[in-house]
Amino acid sequence: GANPELEAAPATVEGSEAARSTAIAQCPYCGVGCGTIIQVENGKIVSMRPDKDHPTNYGLQCIKGLTAAEPMYVDRMEGDSYVRKDVWEEWNKPDHGDLAYVSKTKGSFDEEHFVRVPYEQASNMVAHKIAHFAKTHGGNSIGLYGSGQLTMEGQYLENLFMKGILGSNTIEANARMCMTSAVTGYFATLGSDTPPLAYEDIELCDMIMHFGHNARESHPIIFWRAADHKKKKDIPTVVVDPRRTGTVMGYEDINPENSVHVPIL
Ligand code: SF4
Repeated sequence: GANPELEAAPATVEGSEAARSTAIAQCPYCGVGCGTIIQVENGKIVSMRPDKDHPTNYGLQCIKGLTAAEPMYVDRMEGDSYVRKDVWEEWNKPDHGDLAYVSKTKGSFDEEHFVRVPYEQASNMVAHKIAHFAKTHGGNSIGLYGSGQLTMEGQYLENLFMKGILGSNTIEANARMCMTSAVTGYFATLGSDTPPLAYEDIELCDMIMHFGHNARESHPIIFWRAADHKKKKDIPTVVVDPRRTGTVMGYEDINPENSVHVPIL
């Protein structure tokens, strides 16, 4: 194909036994959807590179996308978990004490309130308590707050566990919290329930405004494209946000004269 990244990746490495393959994919993390080239060697991902030809990111990616494969190879059973000290003390009483015990230090994340416990023991405690609540109060006594970022397989397992095993339909996800407000806003202001624009509109803008949006952290590629456009065309930018975010400072670094920060929301 026309993509030099792909042409540079032979199916097998000469003089070695390593079987290498390349796949064009998309970063799974945020809504920007950066094009990524995944290289697999002997069944393991060895690199994830930004796709230069992708119309969204043009060869750029943030650190989240560049390291997206790493969590796949972390052994989650390895290393100790943090458990609240008083919860662990209660659990170690005869018959595990009060299974509905609520920590007295809930809400505080000071190191002194925690003990490190082998992963197996900590997850065993959690599993035991979930089973206890499901048996005592029914499956719907347990809720799960999931994520729109989960893979299809992850969503399937989540639903299987909650509905099929626990008998609970109390499942919510950030996707609804986020999109309910956004869609209401889109309808009211733009007359459409989807964001009615394309990324290439960024480079056509005469002015860019962000409302409560720290694009530099949340959607870095959008910020970089907007910042690049500002630098080239010197367009004014407005960030409405009570915080003095990286987006505010990034635009100010380019031109403080036409970078407005409105610290309200
Ligand atoms: S901006 Fe970062 S997290 Fe979002 S899709 Fe691109 S690489 Fe992934």
